[in-house]
Amino acid sequence: MRRQGTVKASYVCKGIKVVNCPMTIKDSAGGGNYQTIAAAQSAGAVTVNIGLFINTVISFTIVAFCVFLLVKGMNKLRQTPTPAPVNTKECHYCFTTIPLKAVKCPNCVSELK
Ligand SMILES: [Zn+2]
Repeated sequence: MRRQGTVKASYVCKGIKVVNCPMTIKDSAGGGNYQTIAAAQSAGAVTVNIGLFINTVISFTIVAFCVFLLVKGMNKLRQTPTPAPVNTKECHYCFTTIPLKAVKCPNCVSELK
């Protein structure tokens, strides 16, 4: 496996250019110093398109991060406010609000169970 020396072609993905550097596994019959992947493939050389692979990985990472942010935003919108903790109760006799731990109503002085 030999790496091509000249790298001219670049793959464009929405403004991000990743150098397309094919690695030649097997040269064609005429020998090869290919400028592009298309030239190498038309000449019959077998190449490993590392530039395309890196570009695909970067594109996948960008899309996955965007989907992550989208899902995170959707979850933030769906959150309902948690109700305040209940620390009061109503007296059964005078129907006023008293602390939850009270055993005797401060308003009507009745025993609470
Ligand atoms: Zn009471």
